Amino acid sequence: MSEIPTILKKLEGTSEYQILTEIEAAYERIAKEQNEWYEKSGFLCPYGCGECCSHFEPDLMVSEALYMGAWLLEHQPVIAQSVAEDKFPFYAMEHCQFFDSEAQYHCSIYGGRPFICRLFGASGARSKTCELVWKPCRFYPSEQLAKHDPPLKHRQYSSKELMQVFGTLPPDMEALMAGTDADTVLLRDILPKIIRHLLYIIGMNDNGSDNPNGTPNGFAA
Ligand code: SF4
Repeated sequence: MSEIPTILKKLEGTSEYQILTEIEAAYERIAKEQNEWYEKSGFLCPYGCGECCSHFEPDLMVSEALYMGAWLLEHQPVIAQSVAEDKFPFYAMEHCQFFDSEAQYHCSIYGGRPFICRLFGASGARSKTCELVWKPCRFYPSEQLAKHDPPLKHRQYSSKELMQVFGTLPPDMEALMAGTDADTVLLRDILPKIIRHLLYIIGMNDNGSDNPNGTPNGFAA
C-alpha cells in the first residue's frame, strides 16, 4: 500500500504521478531485499545509532526529492509548507536537515528518505571485477563487530566470505539503483523548490477545490 495515497490521487494524470509510483516501487523492492538480508544475516545497525546522519546531508535526484516532498505533504504538511519557505525543522550546517538528535531513531522523514539512506550499511557494492562485496558501516563500533560470531572487522568481505559468515549475500546496490538519474543536488537546495513545484501542480490539477491536508495552492517553483 502506498505511503502517499492522498498526494498520488491529487497528481493523477501528471508525469509527477508516474515518477512517484516508480520511486515507491523501487523503495519497496529495497525494503523487501533488505528484510531478507536482515532476517538471514541477523546483522543490524546498533540500536538508535544515527551516526551516518551526523556530518552528512544527502544529495538528491529530482525523483527522490519529489518523493520526499510528496511524503512530507502527506504526513507533515505544516513542515512541508515551512520547507517550501526554506525553513527546515532541524536546520544545522553540519548534519542532515531532518536529523532529530533528541528522537530515539533520529530520522524525522524516515518514510520519505532517499536511496542512500535506505541502502547505507545494508547493501553490497560491485568490486573492480564485478564481484558483490560488502563492508560493515564505518561507524559500526569495532568492539561490537569483534563480538560477532565469527568476529568481524572494518574491511571488505568477498561474496565467498559473506556466504561463510552470514550464509547469504546483501542486496546489490547497483542493481537496485539501475536506471536512476546520475544528477543530484544537495537536499537543502532542491527540496524547497520541489515542494513549491508539487503544490503548484496539485493546485493546477484539482482546480483548487480541495487541498490535501490543508496545504495551500498556487506556489510556483
Ligand atoms: S534523510 Fe533521514 S536517514 Fe537520511 S541523512 Fe537525513 S536524517 Fe539521516
